[in-house]
Amino acid sequence: MGINDETKLLLHVCCAPCSGVIIERLLAQGVMPTVFFYNPNIFPLKEYLFRKDSIIKFAKKNSIPFVDTDYENSLWKSRVAGLDNEPERGRRCEKCFDIRLERTALYAHENGFKAFATTNGMSRWKDLAQVNLAGLKAAARYPEVVFWDKNWRKNNGEAQMYAIAKKEHFYRQEYCGCEFSLAAANALRQKQGLPSIEPCESSIYT
Ligand code: SF4
Repeated sequence: MGINDETKLLLHVCCAPCSGVIIERLLAQGVMPTVFFYNPNIFPLKEYLFRKDSIIKFAKKNSIPFVDTDYENSLWKSRVAGLDNEPERGRRCEKCFDIRLERTALYAHENGFKAFATTNGMSRWKDLAQVNLAGLKAAARYPEVVFWDKNWRKNNGEAQMYAIAKKEHFYRQEYCGCEFSLAAANALRQKQGLPSIEPCESSIYT
């Protein structure tokens, strides 16, 4: 059975805005995703919980199974040690995708999923090749598991992503997720004379 024949998919999600269009497309194709939330990169904890809550509500509304995991921020930090000053799309991000997709592949392997995918490549701010390489490497650990390296941005994906975010009034996060991306975003805002980002105090899509 090939990937396109699968009707059960483990979907690693990073946040609600990136997930909405992907989940709606999967459901329209008759593929039932199980949402897998493993994002130890998100900092601080209150931001992590806020983002998680947003995707839990969306999953519940669509009767989609949701798998929660531990907040392993210390473990994440130990694996990206020394990469604090890397730019977004650099080596720290490469590791960050590896960490999250390795855990997703392991869960797929241990729980009978033949296929997994991620929402990490939805945003144009991400390096899609970097995300897909991380997924393929993670899947290569388990012979029965495949990674679905789709380009979800195609067919007007970004416009649909924003339309769904507005329809669902998703929480709009102002930085990628880790403490380093928060610091970089705030440094830029300071240069522009803008106030600093306060986690969880960002706006809602309207
Ligand atoms: S900028 Fe985003 S993708 Fe890169 S390491 Fe931080 S949280 Fe991960």
